[in-house]
Amino acid sequence: MATAKKKAAAKPARTSKAPAAAVKKPAGIACPHCGKALDGIRPVTAFCRQDKTVVAELFKGHEGKFNVFECAGCGKDVRLDLALVYRDEEHASLIYYLPPADRTTIAAAEAAIGRIVEQLFGVDAKSEDVPDCRLTLSLQEFIEKIALLEDGLDDRVVEFIKYHIFLRNEHDIDPQKVTLLYNFTSSDEEALEFVIFNRKTGKAENATSVPMTLYHEVKDALLTDKELHEEVCTLFRGRYYVNAAALF
Ligand SMILES: [Zn+2]
Repeated sequence: MATAKKKAAAKPARTSKAPAAAVKKPAGIACPHCGKALDGIRPVTAFCRQDKTVVAELFKGHEGKFNVFECAGCGKDVRLDLALVYRDEEHASLIYYLPPADRTTIAAAEAAIGRIVEQLFGVDAKSEDVPDCRLTLSLQEFIEKIALLEDGLDDRVVEFIKYHIFLRNEHDIDPQKVTLLYNFTSSDEEALEFVIFNRKTGKAENATSVPMTLYHEVKDALLTDKELHEEVCTLFRGRYYVNAAALF
């Protein structure tokens, strides 16, 4: 009986309320400028593909007003960095973002997401009944994962390609120095473009790309080439944090 219940809860259509409950409700947030409590605000902690205005605001980054609230005390804008969960029921996907305050190490963050998934879907849930869950550790990574989903791209394939770009290490694309993020604003449909961000400054420094045909070759090969499939599985197996830079 319990199994049947868990199975039902794991169906994408039933996940709508659960992830919101799994993310801690922010309590007692004070303005960092004047210390006054930010009362009556309703920050976003869980949203979905259909929440277009929320997604659009998030995608604007620092230009946007995602979880930005004006303090009633000093009138300054306060940008809240809270744990977030995005769900895409169509693709049975959940993407989590854990801010620095909510984690110590990647392993601890992975364990935290593991516990949430267990709570939501049960310890014995079959893998096909559990949505694809991803962990991200920066808002940029969070936005990237959402953009990949929305553009119908497989993030494992994209991270595998990034991994090989890092391995080649041409033009000083060193995972210790830079991160690569999918450029979802690129209008070139023939290329899979990445913006190169300097890890120290956080600034976009350059860009690199691979032909989109390569993406499709790798994706197709994953289905037919056992060796490649095994390699990708070994790299990302059991991970919620699917990120090429974390492999170095
Ligand atoms: Zn204030």
